[in-house]
Amino acid sequence: MTKHTARIGVFGGSGFYSLMDSFEEIKIETPYGAPSDLIAIGTVGDRKVAFLPRHGKQHQYPPHMIPYRANVYAMKQLGVTQIIGPNCVGSLQPHIKPGHFVVCDQFVDRTSGRRDTFYDGPIATHISSAEPYCGVLRKLAVEIGREQGITMHDGGATVVVQGPRFSTRAESHWFTQMGWSIVNMTQYPECVLALEQEICYVNIALITDYDTGIVADGGVEAVSAAEVVNVLQSNNERVRYLILEMIKRMPDTRDCPCARALQFARME
Ligand SMILES: [Zn+2]
Repeated sequence: MTKHTARIGVFGGSGFYSLMDSFEEIKIETPYGAPSDLIAIGTVGDRKVAFLPRHGKQHQYPPHMIPYRANVYAMKQLGVTQIIGPNCVGSLQPHIKPGHFVVCDQFVDRTSGRRDTFYDGPIATHISSAEPYCGVLRKLAVEIGREQGITMHDGGATVVVQGPRFSTRAESHWFTQMGWSIVNMTQYPECVLALEQEICYVNIALITDYDTGIVADGGVEAVSAAEVVNVLQSNNERVRYLILEMIKRMPDTRDCPCARALQFARME
């Protein structure tokens, strides 16, 4: 255990390795091993915040190798009750454009073999994942983003693929036809592990490019790697500002169902 505490946790994604200007870095061990890196503890407004880049600072953990359970459990040990999980994603729909943000309300799990629960027995624990993301924090993210002039998509489904390879055109075409919004590699199991610990989780997805399927349909232009980097760089400061502003304005008390995820989950 650690003497440090924090109320709000942030998992940085690709290209996002620091959040606060002043912080203390601490090493945390968990029953699930070590998290991806040292955790930065600092203060934003009057809130204590823990920041951890989910891939590690050297981007040493590809999406399928990230120690998701250790990362979430480290946040739990610190006392975190709300997590912000930003990431970079591909769009599956023409109207969701590079530079837009999507705050998801659903996911479709296409991963395999990841350790995706804290409850391996002996008490059977089945949380509901009908609403896997925190609705209260989603509304707050959308509101603050719109104040900044960002195009925010309020809700949407993210397909989570196993990686490290990207989707085939056939897979991507399928996802698009199903009406799903975006595709990424890290939302599962990160968000459900948080829910298993009764932690609110909100995703902020920055669109960097279009996935292969809709490009193949000729509906939109393919985006080059250089343009992806451009979108990333020009939006990094906006993502950071959005997160810092969210932290300052998060509600002090939680009325959302996330806080009671385990209430009816146990077969005892
Ligand atoms: Zn919540």
